[in-house]
Amino acid sequence: MKPLNPIVAACPPSGIRRFFDIAATLDNVISLGVGEPDYVTPWHVREAGIYALEQGYTTYTSNAGLLELREAIVKDLSRRYAVSFDPAAECLITSGVSQGLDLAMRTLLAPGDEVIIPEPCYVAYGPCVTFAGGTPVYVPSDERFHILIDEIERAITPRTKAILVSSPSNPTGAIQPREVLEALVALAVRHDLYLVSDEIYERLSYDAPHTCVASLDGARDRTVLLGGFSKAHAMTGWRVGYICAPAPILELAGRIHQYTMLCAPHVSQAAALEGLRAGEPRVAEMVAGYDRRRRLFAKGLNDIGLTCDEPQGAFYAFPSIRSTGLNSETFAERLLEAERVAVVPGSVFGPSGEGHIRCSYATALPLLDEALERMGRFVASLQH
Ligand code: PLP
Repeated sequence: MKPLNPIVAACPPSGIRRFFDIAATLDNVISLGVGEPDYVTPWHVREAGIYALEQGYTTYTSNAGLLELREAIVKDLSRRYAVSFDPAAECLITSGVSQGLDLAMRTLLAPGDEVIIPEPCYVAYGPCVTFAGGTPVYVPSDERFHILIDEIERAITPRTKAILVSSPSNPTGAIQPREVLEALVALAVRHDLYLVSDEIYERLSYDAPHTCVASLDGARDRTVLLGGFSKAHAMTGWRVGYICAPAPILELAGRIHQYTMLCAPHVSQAAALEGLRAGEPRVAEMVAGYDRRRRLFAKGLNDIGLTCDEPQGAFYAFPSIRSTGLNSETFAERLLEAERVAVVPGSVFGPSGEGHIRCSYATALPLLDEALERMGRFVASLQH
């Protein structure tokens, strides 16, 4: 048989998956491994989905998605970040940020173009660039996981097309200070680069208001904003996200979407619209729940000897495990074996993730307490 696509074949499976597979063979595992809300989608949103089914909304929508949903998204962005997009020409509904990311890369990149990605970063970024024919260029961040502008500038070559940024961050929970994002925009302007900004965790920003990259001076016309409903609205399985970008970029993204996806699921779009129209109180409650857990969990990690800055956003803690002398892969494997707690080794998110583990605190408090107790026992056992 002829060989399959060598670009895809050369891309290893996600390092996160491997741990889920091991965890699935064990009993009594507490999983801090998944990046997924433990809340079920709010009832009024599920009801809107049920109503949509009852009404027979089982067809395609327009390629770009329901106009009412695009209008609601654009209005919401304008209200919260004072950034304006035309709902007809500058907003496209996608099947999650995942599809938005794929479309963004396929729209922006010609074969061989480079995309600079500050790491540690979400595991899909590199593969999305590669599958679009580009080359990911990873640049380490500082010890607080803030972007190092000088390092980014040093990584720019004549092939660089875009910088991919995500704040709040998966896996670190870090938020880029506004000045850093402003400097990044200035850099992009100076070198004529696009910015792709994955803001899927925008609502999960606990200590300071979120900075929307497209709202910064000079950014609007070179930024592809990716947003979605999976996290803040607890809608991972519905598969709804969006791209907001200048019309010429969106026009091309829409062309790919038109041929490859047609549209995001109709019922899910109707449910997401309800989430935007009336979901605020429940979203605020869920965010407050994550905030409580984040403070307790970060304190608990420090108490057992795993140094952890209080994460500022998303729902991940990224403690250092250096004091244990183990690398992150061995730590995660042995913790799972000995105490049945599943975490993700920091190394899967890039070289500067080594020495850390990613723990999702989107988990009920009693389980987080139990996980901390087990992790404490494990860390103590390493000292003997
Ligand atoms: N971007 C980041 C940073 C994520 O952490 C995730 C999911 O974990 C995604 C994108 C994918 O989100 P969606 O469910 O909208 O495809």
